[in-house]
Amino acid sequence: MLHYRSVPEAEAVLQRNLTTAEAAWLRYSAGTHDLWLYFHNIIFLLVVYTLAPLPLAVLELTRPDAIRRYKVQPKVPVSLSAVLRCYRNVVCSFLLTVGPLQILSYPTVKWVGIRTGLPLPTWWEATAQVGVYVVVEDYANYWVHRAMHTPWGYEKIHHVHHEFTVPVGFAAPYAHWAELLLLGVPSFLGPALVPCHITVFWLWMVLRHVEAIETHCGYDFPHTPTKYIPFYGGAEYHDYHHFVGRQSQSNFASIFTYCDYIYGTDKGYRYHKDLRAKIR
Ligand SMILES: [Zn+2]
Ligand SMILES: [Zn+2]
Repeated sequence: MLHYRSVPEAEAVLQRNLTTAEAAWLRYSAGTHDLWLYFHNIIFLLVVYTLAPLPLAVLELTRPDAIRRYKVQPKVPVSLSAVLRCYRNVVCSFLLTVGPLQILSYPTVKWVGIRTGLPLPTWWEATAQVGVYVVVEDYANYWVHRAMHTPWGYEKIHHVHHEFTVPVGFAAPYAHWAELLLLGVPSFLGPALVPCHITVFWLWMVLRHVEAIETHCGYDFPHTPTKYIPFYGGAEYHDYHHFVGRQSQSNFASIFTYCDYIYGTDKGYRYHKDLRAKIR
């Protein structure tokens, strides 16, 4: 919560003029409790989850032939009932699991030093922080996901996420409630190590969510912006993990490919890829 209620008051404390963004932030957040600002996160996640996978899902259900050549597993159609069931389950999980987690984790958010006041971070500061979070998340998520593929982890928890052997964007956060809680740890680890402004925290969670939706979209389109990110895994990379399913000991990383390369868990995928290249 901001402790000054007007632009002149804030400018007197900061001893400079506020930027347009800072003045807007002051108008929006002055007098708003930090818990409510933090709780915005789940609202953003729900909005992004509803809207981001929608265009491709509509296209796939109404005009599948138009985009079939980009589908990673073209012979397996996705049904409307499966998508609706997935959406309903994920929204319930968000409201019943992630929502309470947001409230319970609020003291930790305050403790690690995620701030809501002024000044707002600069663009380079926000970019550097999100860059750190991406690397930390990818590494920690790799090990959490790998642990999920032990017999116990898979049987008790992770099998739910693998119900979709042909992933769709809506299935990105489709998982057992315990997995949703566990995967919150890698996502939160970066902000805990390098605390940021709440707006950067929102940005990071939204970007991570969009990345997961893109990775699960089931389509490998040429020239998507993520194709230009070095070592980025993407839809085709993660699709293989779902295609193999229960037995999968390959492609555990959530964002990049280098953890799987370093720890030797991309051999099945490389073999599969080489084989497909020879058949073509
Ligand atoms: Zn898995
Ligand atoms: Zn997945």
